[in-house]
Amino acid sequence: MPEASAEEFGVVAGKLHPTGVNLISRDWQQSELQIIDAAVARISQVLGSARAVQIATGGVRMERTPEGGGLTYGFWILPWWKRIVLGDPEFQQDPAWRGQVAEVHELGHAWDPQRSPVWVRVFNGAGRIVNAMSAFVAEEPGPTCYGGLMGPDCHFARVPREEWAESVAAYVFPEYTEWLRANLPAERDAGLRPKHKAFVEKQIEAVRKMVANDESQRA
Ligand SMILES: [Zn+2]
Repeated sequence: MPEASAEEFGVVAGKLHPTGVNLISRDWQQSELQIIDAAVARISQVLGSARAVQIATGGVRMERTPEGGGLTYGFWILPWWKRIVLGDPEFQQDPAWRGQVAEVHELGHAWDPQRSPVWVRVFNGAGRIVNAMSAFVAEEPGPTCYGGLMGPDCHFARVPREEWAESVAAYVFPEYTEWLRANLPAERDAGLRPKHKAFVEKQIEAVRKMVANDESQRA
């Protein structure tokens, strides 16, 4: 797969700029830039605008390393230091669109500490959104095994931070949980349930209000 040219990089970086997603590494492959571009376009559409993504996450730096890890370093105190590190495990997925899901999952992580006090970011704990989600959804299972589904064959414990990120991913990509249900036996009960869905919608509503306030202050 060819490495993206400086021009291709510039086009995608320019499109991402209003969403607050800043590409740091230079050695992206064309296919990876396409995945990032498509993922950010999709979440922008769901949140209502590029500005909404920027306000939700506070802006992130996106970096590429071979090992990746999908890490969002929410503990960086200043928003413009927030880093999402992507690599082969995130990009080389089957089917390829699951790379977009991984990307939106990480943006979901960035969304939470942005609404949290500094000490929560320092200790990489659950932020205000994640804590509110846990209280709101109570016993309702999360959308995927990794995101708190707690199905009999799931091998993951319930981790609220991941449950939130997976809820964002499942909301933005309904085909994600459909695919999991159809293809992975352990995920046969995957799906975004009503309280989780309502909670994500509440957060989107809050971001849209912030965008509207921001615009009226600029006017
Ligand atoms: Zn995660």
